[in-house]
Amino acid sequence: MTDQATSGVVEQAYRAERRASAALYERGRQVLAGGVTHDTRHQTPFPIMITRAQGARKWDVDGNEYVDYTMGHGALILGHVHPVATQAATEQLQRGTHFGASHELEIAWAEQICKLIPSAELVRFHSSGTEATHMAMRLARAHTGRDRIVKFDYHFHGWHDYATVGVEDPLEIPSSAGVPEAARSTVTSIPTELDRVRAELAKGDVAAVIVEPTGASWGALPLDPSFVHGLRELCNEHDTLLILDEVVTGFRISPGGFQVKHGVTPDLTTMAKIVAGGLPGAVTTGKAEIMQRFDFRAEEGWDRGGRVGHPGTFNANPVSAAAGRAVLEFIEDGAVHERIDAMAARLRSELQAVFDRHDVGGVVYGEASYWHMSLTGEPAKKGVGGPAGAALVRSLLAHGVQLIAGGGFLSVAHSDADIDRTIDAFDAALTDVAQDGHLG
Ligand code: PLP
Repeated sequence: MTDQATSGVVEQAYRAERRASAALYERGRQVLAGGVTHDTRHQTPFPIMITRAQGARKWDVDGNEYVDYTMGHGALILGHVHPVATQAATEQLQRGTHFGASHELEIAWAEQICKLIPSAELVRFHSSGTEATHMAMRLARAHTGRDRIVKFDYHFHGWHDYATVGVEDPLEIPSSAGVPEAARSTVTSIPTELDRVRAELAKGDVAAVIVEPTGASWGALPLDPSFVHGLRELCNEHDTLLILDEVVTGFRISPGGFQVKHGVTPDLTTMAKIVAGGLPGAVTTGKAEIMQRFDFRAEEGWDRGGRVGHPGTFNANPVSAAAGRAVLEFIEDGAVHERIDAMAARLRSELQAVFDRHDVGGVVYGEASYWHMSLTGEPAKKGVGGPAGAALVRSLLAHGVQLIAGGGFLSVAHSDADIDRTIDAFDAALTDVAQDGHLG
């Protein structure tokens, strides 16, 4: 997100139709730290303020309509207010939102996850993906007795201390201030090269390798599946655990996520977003022999030394459990994926055609039901970064299309009419951005 405000066509169009959003943003800045509630929602000159969403569309306080590709940061595979999720959650809201006790729904939810993901032998629930990757690292450390975690440059695993290493340029500086060196020194971030992995694992002190299996930022820097197969082999050779971070790809790349589609069996998996049907929720799951670290045992020394502790007020809350279970049952047969993957393929190819017509050297790419774009001609994590990228994102908003991180997610609610509208908006947005002199 670049703070390069412009006063050209793009910014004028953005401001002119969004006076109520601007006023709300000013009000919010008095009480919201940083003015927003998630770093990616920061937008120059101010973010849009949404009041309502339905299907693939949402509306702001000024009455502007948007085709939505943020889709709940990837959580809403069925779109906004889909009856399957909404009915399950609404019924549960009437029965109770927090029992402060065990309940059948959490079991049914876990059973459905284990059914779709063969490597999921036992499940532990959390409220966010950040909690899941934090827990997976802790489990791996407890299980192996080793401290070091290997991750990959630019791969994103949430915002806990260990996940701040090697995420943004310059890679040697953590993605947040306030992270102790003691925590950072236990995480090594390296390029996605198997030789580099081999060299790190040969040192014998690595508890786990964690990877976004389709590449950094859900495939913005795509990875060939053969790399993940290579990781599996290397981890086996060195008794190191393989953690697939399927927070985004879980249930999206296929009903069984990346691992089922590409035939890689991890030791541990982290999932969030779709797993809870669009409500807060996440999972750490994997081999029973590792997950049994949560067990309660009478044996001496287990509680203070062997057992992995895990409280969490909202773990497996009944509303998320109801929505999650209902959505996972609905997507189980793969029909949703067939539809949205085809829709995404159409979107990618038509967006590319617009780029080509404008002769700006941009590329559109992605996998399954997500897409990314880059203005550099090559996949790039910050493909639509810089002044041109910021202007394009803002111009698309002005033309009624919202992206996330320079790309987006499709849902079963996206229709051909949504794609048509997106293509027209993209064409108009590129024209405006060029007129402002941002495209070379
Ligand atoms: N891991 C990956 C791959 C993610 O993309 C994200 C968030 O987008 C996370 C972890 C963190 O999840 P959350 O935002 O739910 O904490």
